[in-house]
Parts: sequence; C-alpha cells; structure tokens
Amino acid sequence: MKQRLFTPGPTPLPEEVKLSQAREIVHHRTNQFKQVFQEVEEGLKYVFQTDNDVFLFTSSGTGAMEAAVANLLSPEDEVLVIGGGKFAERWAEIIQAFGGKVNLVDVEWGKGVDPLKVEEGISQNPEIKAVFTQLVETSTGAVYDIEALGRILRKTSTVLVVDAISALCAHPLHTDKWGVDAVIGGSQKALMIPPGLAFVAISEKAWKLVENSTSPKYYWDFKKARNALAKFQTPYTPAVSLIFALRDSLRLLKEEGIERVVNRHAELAKATRKAILAMGLKIFGENPSNVITSVTLPPQIDEKKLRRLMQARFGVQVAGGQDSLAGKIIRIAHLGWTDTSDIIVVISALEMALLELGYSVELGKGLKAAEEVFGESRRYRSR
Ligand SMILES: *Cc1c(COP(=O)(O)O)cnc(C)c1O
Repeated sequence: MKQRLFTPGPTPLPEEVKLSQAREIVHHRTNQFKQVFQEVEEGLKYVFQTDNDVFLFTSSGTGAMEAAVANLLSPEDEVLVIGGGKFAERWAEIIQAFGGKVNLVDVEWGKGVDPLKVEEGISQNPEIKAVFTQLVETSTGAVYDIEALGRILRKTSTVLVVDAISALCAHPLHTDKWGVDAVIGGSQKALMIPPGLAFVAISEKAWKLVENSTSPKYYWDFKKARNALAKFQTPYTPAVSLIFALRDSLRLLKEEGIERVVNRHAELAKATRKAILAMGLKIFGENPSNVITSVTLPPQIDEKKLRRLMQARFGVQVAGGQDSLAGKIIRIAHLGWTDTSDIIVVISALEMALLELGYSVELGKGLKAAEEVFGESRRYRSR
C-alpha cells in the first residue's frame, strides 16, 4: 500500500529530492562542494528572507535550538520564554540546562500570545537578554504574531529568538523586515528533505550576545561556523547527501516563489479546516496555522484506534496529541510537498475511519467542503 505522511515532520519528498541523495558523494573540502554550499546558502537566505548569515548544522531541529542557547546566553542570564505548548517547554528546558533563568509568559495551549504581555515582561525586568518563542507551536497548531514582537523588541537591546522549524515556508516570515535576531529552521518540514539538517540565521544585534557568551560549546560554536561559512564550508563534516537534496529542494521553492509556496499552505489549511467543520468536528485552539490542523475528537472516539485504522486501511499517517492533549486531538499536517489531492485523500480517510468507529458522519461532507475551497480558488482554476 502507498504510504502517505501527514505528520508535522518528517514530510513527503519530491522525486527530484529523493534522487539527489543517491548521487555519488563528494568530499566536503573540495571546490565542487563549496559551489553547492554557496548555492544552498543563497537559497536559505531567500527562504528565511534575510541578508544575515544562516548557519547549517548536521542535526535535527532541536540541535539548532540548543546551539542558539549555547551561543547567545551565559549562565545566570535572564530570559523570557513564551509558553503555550511542548516546543515552548523545550526552549525552557534547554535554557535551564545551560543555567539560564527562565521567566515564563503564560499562554494557554492553542491560543496566541498577547504582545503587550511581552512588552510588560521586558519593561519590568531590564535584565532580560532575549525572548524565546515559536512562529508556529506545532504541538497545538497555534501561530504567534512575531511581527508584533519584533516591533516591540527592536527598540530595546533584547534579542528575539524564534523557532520557525515547522513554519518556515508555510507562513510569512520576514526575518530582517520584522527584526528577528535568531531564526531556527529544520530540514524535515516544509523544506521537503529528510530529517538531519538544522539552520540558524543570526543578526548583528544577536552577534553581540554571541561575542560575550561564556556558556560551554564546541560542535555548536557560532564563531567557528561563521569563519567556515566565509569560505562556504562547515567546521566539521556535514551530511553531504542531505545538502545535495537541500540544494534541489531550494531550487524547487525558488521556482514556485516563496509567496506562492506560503499561499499554497494557506489554501490547503483553509480547505482542511472547512472540511473538519463540515464533518461536525471542532478545530482545537483559536489561532490555527498553515502548518497543521488540530482536530478535537468527539469523546467516544479513541484517538489511537482512529490513527491506527487510518494507517492500516488507507496508508494515511496523521499525528496524535502530546502531553495534556494526548488522546484528545489528532494533528493533520499539510506541510511541504503537499497538494490539493493529498487533502482529498486525508479527509476521505478520516471520514471513512470515523464512520467505521461509530461516529455519525455523512460520507462526502468534508470532501465537498474542501473541494469547494479549491473550486473557488483562482490559483487552481487558472491551471
Ligand atoms: C519539529 C519541530 C522542532 C524540532 O524537532 P526535531 O525533532 O529536533 O527536529 C522544534 N520546534 C518545532 C516548533 C517543531 O515543529
């Protein structure tokens, strides 16, 4: 059976990207590699919408989150972490592991952040060196107003650190225009390549913290990364095959155009949400993103059984909830190499699986709602 991923990483891969990894390896200290890496660096600047350096690490996204903490902070530094989900907690845990002092801006899971609360937090404690948050909190699906946070922080010496791992290419992200000082990305989401690469874009304002940081670091040292990047190199052996894949996926994204890539995600998200509502189900949270649709399950539906059935019968894999949301929601990712037909497949699988588990849904109701969204879209009519 054909397997289809609707998980918020890893995501499906375009054929070109699969094949680019099969290419003969090249040595990473050659001109041949440098040329590829130069193109990758330009492509990354394009999708991050920045002129800042974008460092590349061979790791999952969390590695780059840890790298940001190790390079920006020193032990005992005070920071603000915006709460609201599992990945916000990850920021707090990493910062605490490095001896930082976390001040939490409490956000109810599934809601957006009130920028005024952040402004208050900063003005009450002038010692705050940095604010750590997500563009999309993937555990709930909520999107945060980073532009508003940038507007507040650019007037101060506090730096803004944003985990955009799931949101990169799925949501508008204007790193320079919005004044985001450190942006974290990962490979296995909308960049459409396998897990194993992570990125950090760093502003000059953030670089001042890097220069003063006394936290221990070795593999993750941004100073070494910057020196190497000047020669289109990495300090240590990178995942060369993944970098080939990234070069080709960045070419695809450039060809489609970043605005159109983001609009495609917005439209797939809209169709999915309409379908869910048409089926009589509820969307979890108040600030849903283009990355995933979090669906609150009716109490009689067993989340594990539902996901197992969708996988076994239709080859469709969606994600469950985490922590307090475990068993209560499923998360349908419409991320990366995903199109209208994929949405039709996942909605159809969900309708049929729910019916089999005893939820009364009229077959085709969700599909119709999704199809109507696609039908109204000029983008699809013009093809
Ligand atoms: C996927 C994701 C991560 C990184 O997870 P890894 O498993 O380390 O790649 C971090 N933050 C967010 C918001 C994510 O969606």
